[in-house]
Amino acid sequence: MKENIGKVVKVSGPLVVAEDIPNAKMYEMVYVSDKKLFGEIIEIKGNNASIQVYEDTSGVGPGDPVYSTGMPLSVELGPGLIGSIYDGVQRPLDVLKEKYGDFIVRGSYEPALSRKKKWHFVPLTKKGSNVVSGDPVGYVQETVAIKHYILIPIGLEGEIDFIADEGDYTVEDIVAKVKTNGGEREVRMYQKWPVRIGRPYAKRLPPNEPLITGQRVIDAFFPIAKGGTACVPGPFGSGKTVIQHQLSKWSDADIIIFIGCGERGNEMTDVLMEFPELTDPRTGRPLMERTILIANTSNMPVAAREASVFTGITMGEYFRDMGYTVALMADSTSRWAEAMREMSGRLEEMPGEEGYPAYLASRISSFYERAGRVIVLGNGKKESALSVIGAVSPPGGDLSDPVVQATLRTVRVFWSLDAQLAYARHFPSIHWLRSYSLYADSLKDFYTSRLGKEWAEMRKEFMKILRREAELQEMVRLVGIDALSPSDRLIMEVARSIREDFLQQNAFMEEDTYTSLEKQKRMMRLIHLFYVYAQDALKRGVSLDKIVDLPVRVDISRSKLIPEDNLEKFDEIEKKLKESFEALVSEVQNG
Ligand code: ADP
Repeated sequence: MKENIGKVVKVSGPLVVAEDIPNAKMYEMVYVSDKKLFGEIIEIKGNNASIQVYEDTSGVGPGDPVYSTGMPLSVELGPGLIGSIYDGVQRPLDVLKEKYGDFIVRGSYEPALSRKKKWHFVPLTKKGSNVVSGDPVGYVQETVAIKHYILIPIGLEGEIDFIADEGDYTVEDIVAKVKTNGGEREVRMYQKWPVRIGRPYAKRLPPNEPLITGQRVIDAFFPIAKGGTACVPGPFGSGKTVIQHQLSKWSDADIIIFIGCGERGNEMTDVLMEFPELTDPRTGRPLMERTILIANTSNMPVAAREASVFTGITMGEYFRDMGYTVALMADSTSRWAEAMREMSGRLEEMPGEEGYPAYLASRISSFYERAGRVIVLGNGKKESALSVIGAVSPPGGDLSDPVVQATLRTVRVFWSLDAQLAYARHFPSIHWLRSYSLYADSLKDFYTSRLGKEWAEMRKEFMKILRREAELQEMVRLVGIDALSPSDRLIMEVARSIREDFLQQNAFMEEDTYTSLEKQKRMMRLIHLFYVYAQDALKRGVSLDKIVDLPVRVDISRSKLIPEDNLEKFDEIEKKLKESFEALVSEVQNG
């Protein structure tokens, strides 16, 4: 028997047990059988190792060889990532498709980054410079939007002994050499990193800047911080896809990573088809020029879902390390959890709640914990952030589901998509009473310094009005609308205006699809002013019906269509509001 070969003893779906793998280590990558199926060691008991195999294991049987690699499951990081579509173990689906057609042949191999393609390298350092991990030695203009910095790999520091001239190189060419204490080391344009280990950074920063999305219900009510985490459940038809697209297009992140984590075959193809068609509103060019897609094809076993989640987050950290703001979306993490459940069952582990493994929560948080706003390694002390938004799809939309609960314990924002709101065509269907953001407090200073104290005050008041509306609705159901006092009926009117004129936002309408914070504030202020004037008018004896019928309310409801470059229009409406109420009051006083 050769040095690095073990032997299969048992096959159970994606789980293969093998014996005698020399020096087997947890999370080591191995190749199973002569088909070279890709797998990862996930349990070691004595001489036996359990391997989670990321490809169909049919035809593999006892006695087949298992080749160890001595390497943990790793990804390749370098030019060529942007715009790529990978599977969970970073095989380039677009390249494989050209080679093999729609179905990937088992054991097929193609490097994640092309070895032939030449990139135009521009040096940023000189011979004799001292460098540390994370310092850029040069860059490649990967796409119009993205400069891909070639960083000194983690763990390396010393003096630059050689730096390549500006010119065209492949990812394997040596672009720098560093004299270190341990001898000379070569730097190529790509590096490898084990997916289960978070890439280090210099310092973690508090999450006190919002990831601005231009989506009013998010920015104003349930903001996510840069480097923050959010969870969104997605009942079918609730607008989950539209939200993900909106966030990808509009959030102020430089790089988007989308992980399609083993949805049913068709759903995944939707993403694969739709994403490449999206345009980037910043550049007018394809959004793929700053996007990486990771998709599990329907013929890959469930185990690959786990790999895709960690592959994606590692790529996110890599671009974070260059100083970019990255937004990562994973859809759906419930499918990943189901894969954990299946593997755990096959390993005959003691099941936790609903058959999920006891480590479900810790594994989920080991993913979300890699989000954050940080100062990256390197002398540049760049600040950057990796934000993570995970979709969950609990069976029957039941939020008491263990995966949802485990997720909610780690993430800090919950956007509760509501099927009934979607049915009533209220989009985005983020429910204002059931959603929350635990960043609201830490972001308050940012909003106050940019938009004044008013922002937080109006936000608080609006939430209060919406909560009050829910109580009043309950009363109306019991005793009828006529039993409400005029001031309570006013609250109902204002609440409706908040919902319809502010929270509802049409992703498909040019003027409405994105709203700047400044415009959001002006819109809120119109509704707020209306409320203040109306309360006063009621006190002075104006009838509620007259208030409700004021023509200026049409202006309020249309204010979402005011173009961003014409915000003075809000001054006019505010003036009209004031005058309308003055007229009503003087009518009462004179009449
Ligand atoms: P899901 O992915 O949850 O099944 P989609 O995101 O495809 O649902 O949304 C279903 C439909 O709802 C869309 O085709 C669209 O017509 C409508 N919709 C969802 N969100 C919005 C929005 N923000 N603005 C306008 N229409 C929306």
